[in-house]
Amino acid sequence: MIELDTETLRRYDSEYLWHPFTQMSEWENAENIVITRGEGSYIIDSEGNRYLDGVAAIWTNVHGHCRKEINEAVKEQVDRLEHSTLLGLSNDRAALLAKRLIDIAPPGLAKVFYSDNGSTAVEIGVKMAFQYQQQVGNTEKKKFIRFDNAYHGDTVGSMSVGGIAIYHEVYAPLLFPTIMAPSPYCYRCALAPEGDCRSCGLLCLQELERLMKEHAHELAGLVIEPSVQGAGGMIVQPPGFVKGVRELCDRYDVLMIADEVAVGFGRTGAMFACGKEGVTPDIMAISKGISAGYLPLAATLTTRKVYDAFWGAYSELKTFFHGHTFTGNPIACAAALASLDIFETDRLLERLPEKIDYLQDRLQRLMELTHVGDVRQEGMIAGIELVRDRHSRDPYPWEERVGVRVCLEARKHGLFLRPLGNVIVVFPPLSISLDELAMLMDGIEASIRSVTE
Ligand code: PMP
Repeated sequence: MIELDTETLRRYDSEYLWHPFTQMSEWENAENIVITRGEGSYIIDSEGNRYLDGVAAIWTNVHGHCRKEINEAVKEQVDRLEHSTLLGLSNDRAALLAKRLIDIAPPGLAKVFYSDNGSTAVEIGVKMAFQYQQQVGNTEKKKFIRFDNAYHGDTVGSMSVGGIAIYHEVYAPLLFPTIMAPSPYCYRCALAPEGDCRSCGLLCLQELERLMKEHAHELAGLVIEPSVQGAGGMIVQPPGFVKGVRELCDRYDVLMIADEVAVGFGRTGAMFACGKEGVTPDIMAISKGISAGYLPLAATLTTRKVYDAFWGAYSELKTFFHGHTFTGNPIACAAALASLDIFETDRLLERLPEKIDYLQDRLQRLMELTHVGDVRQEGMIAGIELVRDRHSRDPYPWEERVGVRVCLEARKHGLFLRPLGNVIVVFPPLSISLDELAMLMDGIEASIRSVTE
């Protein structure tokens, strides 16, 4: 393999690459890090510097980097079958993984439709719900309900059900109309100004009910990130919210589409976030952790009830006319199968509570810092919201890039972090050790102090 020096790599990067979600005028003028290796909880750059990966690549690497068993499974699969198609054929890895996914999914989910990224998995869910309603005779039910601060990806359909204006505003004329429900964002709640979600009686859920009642006749589905709105700022939902949403969907005959792209695969402490409140959605989108970050893979799971609505003679045109070239790619499925094995062999979920408790302690300590307004945690996900003024909750103006500055400062402590505006994200590999978690939280605390005090 050709090994290039850092200067050449940086030059090639800035001449030929266009990075996602990146203002390239800033990127091209910066001395950027080029990652060349990964090892457990660390990524290593072309100069040999090691960074503790505080965000598991992009919320994907459940077992850290370059885990031996997954490496072996991928290598073995490459020598057996690298690609085939699910159009008119099956493959052994895709079939086996489908069975294993159904075994661990919330009870009642029965069928797996593969794709290769989170946006697409959600978009498939939206199309499935739409077509389902048409085919069971609910021909008026064509609309979707979405949440403020939601993020479901960047394709046109997934943007339509998202709610983060700055990402998607420019594309507004391309998007289909939806009904927007309030975000369950207790720290900045527009409905309960006191911001006390414990005593407000879930006003956000009451408002959702009002909207659903009003629009029930035209609502095909509701799209939700259960437990945590991720890209919106790691906004943790109050207990009972997901269950309440499920009940409303049942009451108003609306399909519940759960986007578990970020929260699935152990992130919240349970295999799937819906499972924490005993909820089975009608449709569930998964990606990111599915292949432990190794290869592009996603899936949209659904129930027999939804699947059965697509049955019929070919001439009835009830087929789900959707598919992607790399659907069910066997190498990606082999990585996913190896990852599921590690969940079992490492007893990963059983070992999480200790780490979750430790993280909770460290987050509480951060509340002593003058400019930490809120800390939010769900399992191994945390958001630390930095504010200019703690009492008024006055945010830092976004142009000050406080989150970015904290994350750059954290590099001096050997950490890789990526913020969401003024929110510092903690999303490490689930396999992180307690010592590494301590190092991560020490570095975050020191970096917040040095930038804000
Ligand atoms: N849904 C959620 C909840 C996500 O967090 C993301 C990605 N951050 C997506 C969908 C989109 O996934 P992808 O980037 O793989 O398209």
